[in-house]
Order: sequence, then structure tokens, then C-alpha cells
Amino acid sequence: MKWSEQVRDGVAVHLRAHGLAECPVCHADTLDVCDKPVLMVLGGAAWPNPPHMGPMDPDTAVDFMVRIECSECGYNVLFSSDRFYGAEIPAFEAELAPSV
Ligand SMILES: [Zn+2]
Repeated sequence: MKWSEQVRDGVAVHLRAHGLAECPVCHADTLDVCDKPVLMVLGGAAWPNPPHMGPMDPDTAVDFMVRIECSECGYNVLFSSDRFYGAEIPAFEAELAPSV
């Protein structure tokens, strides 16, 4: 799965609005919005998974983060995806397998 175009565009607008047009480390103009989400697991195991059986830790939360990476120096920054879509808009779109 990957972020919807609306989420990717929203992040790009957010970066420009906050003056992040270039990498704060190497100052190259190469900040890319990665199309794959980063899952940040807070407070325990995210999914029961063999050999760990049983219910998920009730204190566990999973945040979906949007990753921005400088393709020049590798600097990374994460934004909470909650800011870039509403409940009525699907945040993800399916990736189709390449046809053979
Ligand atoms: Zn950089």
C-alpha cells in the first residue's frame, strides 16, 4: 500500500508552507515525500504473531507517519499523517502488482 495522492500532495504543501524547501542538513533541494507509510509502534507489540500468541497489548498504539527523505544526504523526518487526511478520505491506495 502507499499513501494516497492527496496525502502526498498535502505533505508537500505543508513543507513549503513551513519553509522546508531544502534539506536542513545539506541544503540540497532534494526532499522527497516517500509514498510508503512508516508505522511507529508505541507501547508494545503491534500484532499478535507466532510464537507470540494472545491478544494485542491494550496499551499499544500504531501511528502512521509520512516520511520525508533527502535523497542527497539521507536525512529523514517524519510527520504524523493525521494532519493530512480526514475520516472520509481514504489515506491509502492499493499498489497493483506489475503485469507480466
Ligand atoms: Zn540533505
